[in-house]
Amino acid sequence: MRVVADTGICQGHRLCQGDAPDVFGFDEDADVVEVLVERPDESRRKDVATAVKYCPAFALSIEED
Ligand code: SF4
Repeated sequence: MRVVADTGICQGHRLCQGDAPDVFGFDEDADVVEVLVERPDESRRKDVATAVKYCPAFALSIEED
């Protein structure tokens, strides 16, 4: 899987960091999400999927390889 973040619509809520802090970081200067690990291990799928589901801005998605 590949994690994709649309920083154009991210609203900086940072909820994604709470779900998967190893995958989602934060760009303090730009005030938007920063994907730390674009292709996380399959074992992280559940938490990443939760972050995608609950992002208030619908800025996150998972693309399948
Ligand atoms: S991707 Fe979603 S949850 Fe994460 S900081 Fe942006 S708006 Fe918030």
